[in-house]
Amino acid sequence: QGMLSGKVAFITGAASGIGEGTARRFVEEGAAVILADVQQEDGERLQRELTEAGGQALFVMCDVSDASSVEQAVTQGVQQFGQLDIVFANAGINGVWAPIDELQPDEWERTLDINLKGTYLTLHYTVPHLKRAGGGSILITSSVNGTRTFSSAGASAYSSSKAGQVALMKMVALELGRDNIRCNAICPGLIHTNISERTEQRNTEQLGIKVELPEGSPALHEGEGDPVDVADTCLFLASDLGRHVSGVEVFVDGGASLL
Ligand code: NAD
Repeated sequence: QGMLSGKVAFITGAASGIGEGTARRFVEEGAAVILADVQQEDGERLQRELTEAGGQALFVMCDVSDASSVEQAVTQGVQQFGQLDIVFANAGINGVWAPIDELQPDEWERTLDINLKGTYLTLHYTVPHLKRAGGGSILITSSVNGTRTFSSAGASAYSSSKAGQVALMKMVALELGRDNIRCNAICPGLIHTNISERTEQRNTEQLGIKVELPEGSPALHEGEGDPVDVADTCLFLASDLGRHVSGVEVFVDGGASLL
């Protein structure tokens, strides 16, 4: 009997990094996972791997910045597994990091659309299912950027989106307490995933922007964490161990942001 036996989790950004690590951890603990992502190939590969090992997993195509895409993905996942108990709004991008007078309006919008509006849409379409299940646990991936660390020059769009997620989390925790739904944010420090590579690739190859990480950026910190470090924190918050915890940010950075 795993800690999440009989539970169904909807995870965005599940094809890579923190989302993938958490999906693996949740399946180990007996959950069925709905893997929502824009990356079909990686998502389907993960679904195959998890199901071949005896777990329950379904990849669903989902662009979190698009309302109808999220609605469809949630419907498809719930149809497959019959219910929803855990929601992990995790999909996110770094976007373009640039000083405010150089940061272009469409890049600001893209970062906010995926990171903040995407979180709203994910919650908007999943919460009715949590209510129907009689309760549940919502997790949101924010960041130390925008909550405790403001040393990364150029990260105004990213940090604003991450701060916005915390405000959203607190409102949702307040609104849904009576429905037996908890809502918390995890704020990772630097975690070893594909996010930086992905950002650099888009910035240099598609936009022709050479991003130079400003001094004080988290990428310069020593001691990166691993997705499994975040996954274990998520497991605590998603499971009954976290039953009396709601409305908080949990920093998963090994204490680095205290510096
Ligand atoms: P990652 O790039 O490895 O994974 C992110 C996943 O999100 C990818 O699979 C990507 O395809 C998906 N995604 C991107 N845009 C999407 C969209 N519009 N719709 C659906 N899926 C989309 O990165 P990661 O580090 O695992 O990032 C996960 C979350 O963690 C992000 O919200 C990020 O801001 C946050 N975070 C990461 C770090 C870090 O150091 N890696 C630190 C703090 C916070």
